[in-house]
Amino acid sequence: MTLVVQKYGGSSVADAECVQRVARRVAAAREAGHDVVVVVSAMGDTTDELIDLAGRITSGPAGRELDMLLTAGERISMALLAMAVTELGHHATSFTGSQAGLVTDAAHGRARIVEVAPARIRTALAAGSVVIVAGFQGMAQDTQDVTTLGRGGSDTTAVALAAALGADLCEIYTDVDGVFTADPRIVPTARLMPAVSHEEMLELAAHGAKVLHSRCVEFARRYGVPLRVRSSFADDVGDDPLTGRGGTRITSTTEGRTDHAMEDPLISGIAHDRSQAKITVVGIPDKPGAAAAVFTALAGAGCDVDMIVQNVSAEATGCTDISFTLPASAAKSALDALKGVEESSGFLGLRHDDRVGKLSVVGAGMRAHPGVSATLFSALAETGVNIQMISTSEIRISVVVHVDDLEAAVGAAHTAFGLDSEQIEAVVYGGTGR
Ligand code: ADP
Ligand code: ASP
Ligand code: MG
Repeated sequence: MTLVVQKYGGSSVADAECVQRVARRVAAAREAGHDVVVVVSAMGDTTDELIDLAGRITSGPAGRELDMLLTAGERISMALLAMAVTELGHHATSFTGSQAGLVTDAAHGRARIVEVAPARIRTALAAGSVVIVAGFQGMAQDTQDVTTLGRGGSDTTAVALAAALGADLCEIYTDVDGVFTADPRIVPTARLMPAVSHEEMLELAAHGAKVLHSRCVEFARRYGVPLRVRSSFADDVGDDPLTGRGGTRITSTTEGRTDHAMEDPLISGIAHDRSQAKITVVGIPDKPGAAAAVFTALAGAGCDVDMIVQNVSAEATGCTDISFTLPASAAKSALDALKGVEESSGFLGLRHDDRVGKLSVVGAGMRAHPGVSATLFSALAETGVNIQMISTSEIRISVVVHVDDLEAAVGAAHTAFGLDSEQIEAVVYGGTGR
């Protein structure tokens, strides 16, 4: 028997009609003869609304209680979808993350999966049931408390279950037709990519292309899970998941690309991220140990720093500035931690800017081609966009710009690398983009 894992995101289950549309797709996969495990997200913007609600009660909810609250969103979807599938004449059973055997560490809000023990899922499948699992959640091994995997984490639930169950395919259903060369919400001329390598998808996802959670791509690569992104709104319900075309397949480099290395596009896609903030440590003595003091304090506060830039020191003072970016949600803890070492590390002040955005150009082809930075920087210059920070990896160049310039910058880079499609193919079927 073949096994297909299907994940439906929030906009795919936004209301009763959407839940029924998803149920028809699930029933079609079942009728095509597959065992089906479905992972669901919370309906529409429920997770954001629950976070807002908690914010009206307290500015600092305990991680345990916030996770308890947020996991309720996915439980609503799983039960409604089980009812809708049952209405179509199939047996369906829903499970919370902990019932499904998703065991995590105890890091509330960003728990990592340590084990998947899907015994109850196997039993239900063997009994002929469609299995529906609440995404984004698990149970901590040590404390047995309910945990969440981080925003967008239902994708990771799906791939982790697909790996543990040895699924033939994991399908991520969302509100766009697949992975595009840029976010279809801001670049209408973006092109659908029929396939993208794990390596490139990881960079895109880690730098803001939220169509896939980056940890799900890591999982898929590590365990060899066949992964496909497609729209739940498309008119292809009858297509067999295993043989159907369309959407984007996430492939290993060897499978997808080496034969065509000469023809590889230089750039695969462009990601953007509005969720970061920039902090500058001003006037820090330019001597051994200064950067260590700053980043040790940040690490102690659990802050994940992304880009770092240190200026050349001013000759007159022997001091320099260090700027870095981090998730905007961590800025307050970072500033508090840095104030704690202000005296001992001798810096003069701190500046905080949350009006920044990051643009990242990603492409395995850039390894063999110098001049990608020149093309990007010229395109930004012609658009009048000032670059605040730059960082690179082997297959990526990222720049930080003013947030108001971000969309224009993404559009300019998309055009400069020849990614624009002639016909508009980037349709957004649902969701609010929140
Ligand atoms: P879901 O609720 O289905 O998990 P998400 O909102 O998490 O959906 O992800 C889908 C969204 O990702 C799209 O609506 C789109 O705006 C955004 N997105 C960003 N970059 C890309 C990209 N390169 N290709 C496709 N979608 C992208
Ligand atoms: N509902 C969660 C979120 O909005 C998880 C997910 O959708 O993947 O982040
Ligand atoms: Mg998502």
